[in-house]
Amino acid sequence: MKITKHIETAKDKTLFSFEILPPLKGQNIDSIYSGIDPLMEFNPPFIDVTYHREEYVYIEQAGGLLEKRIVRKRPGTVGICAAIQSKYGIDAVPHILCGGFTKEDTENFLIDLDFLGIKNVMALRGDAVKSEIYFKPELGGNCYANDLVKQIINMNEGKFLDEALENSHKTDFCVGVAGYPEKHMEAPSLDNDIERLKIKQAAGAEYVVTQMFFDNQKYFEFVEKCREKGITIPIIPGLKPIATKKQLTIIPHRFHIDMPDVLTREVEKCKDNQEVRQVGIDWCIQQSKELVAAGVPVLHYYSMGKSSNIQKIASAVF
Ligand code: FAD
Repeated sequence: MKITKHIETAKDKTLFSFEILPPLKGQNIDSIYSGIDPLMEFNPPFIDVTYHREEYVYIEQAGGLLEKRIVRKRPGTVGICAAIQSKYGIDAVPHILCGGFTKEDTENFLIDLDFLGIKNVMALRGDAVKSEIYFKPELGGNCYANDLVKQIINMNEGKFLDEALENSHKTDFCVGVAGYPEKHMEAPSLDNDIERLKIKQAAGAEYVVTQMFFDNQKYFEFVEKCREKGITIPIIPGLKPIATKKQLTIIPHRFHIDMPDVLTREVEKCKDNQEVRQVGIDWCIQQSKELVAAGVPVLHYYSMGKSSNIQKIASAVF
């Protein structure tokens, strides 16, 4: 079922969902199941599976020549989504990127998803790979998420790049996109970023999932600004409980978001990461309860494969 339909069916009830990463290459799919199983009691209507594009590594050969190798550490997004839908009977939402895909690759990827009965996709631009300073689209690929959304909607309307498919079939994807309460790192301002988000809605996006945030006020203000600018689709908050002291610096650096001073002080007081985990859980429970009281449609947790803290939070909230 489409995410928008899940939200509509739940009426005013806040739903629980979460996001997982494919396992590192060489690991077993059982690690995915053991992350999902403890969270099934909270009836997630959907689970997101992230997409990780290839990185380039340079290996020095004899004579000092550099050999360029392509490495993908976490393949398997499509297979994991198919396995989740078949094992648990709930919707899996694969993430799909502009980066690393030509438009033909994108079309083929989406045809696979359609064959597998996957009804929802999260359309993203992707980040620059480590060897690039700025994001570079693939030659013949989509440049921004709004271009990718447009391509998916074209397929929903029976318009394919492969002329042989033209008007022979229509896909029926519900498309989600990313939103940034504290603005995307490359955007010149929050207002400008929200204008770009509105373009994604105009292209056919049906819901937004936000970047993680630790101060609910940022989310509330973002939603208010989006509504003022005419963004009407559901805006699902994304939450992550902090779990280590290092994350106090890694998260702001990686995601360009602020950590509230009160949370920072609480984490700094902790003797070890076990204490930090508890602070992170308590903080996330508070955030979740306030968001539920405000009537958000879904609480979407970034579980990163570690379900025990999400389980504790969900037990207190749902
Ligand atoms: P866009 O919406 O394309 O925006 C990128 C930047 O360009 C923004 O600064 C925006 O303001 C600007 N912009 C947008 N459209 C235009 C335009 N037409 N003209 C000029 N400027 C424009 N990354 C992964 O690699 N795999 C994942 O699975 C993944 N999942 C994610 C899930 C969520 C919920 C979120 C919030 C992020 C996720 N990311 C993932 C990270 C994401 O790929 C990066 O944040 C990326 O840098 C931006 O992606 P986007 O889809 O928001 O890009």
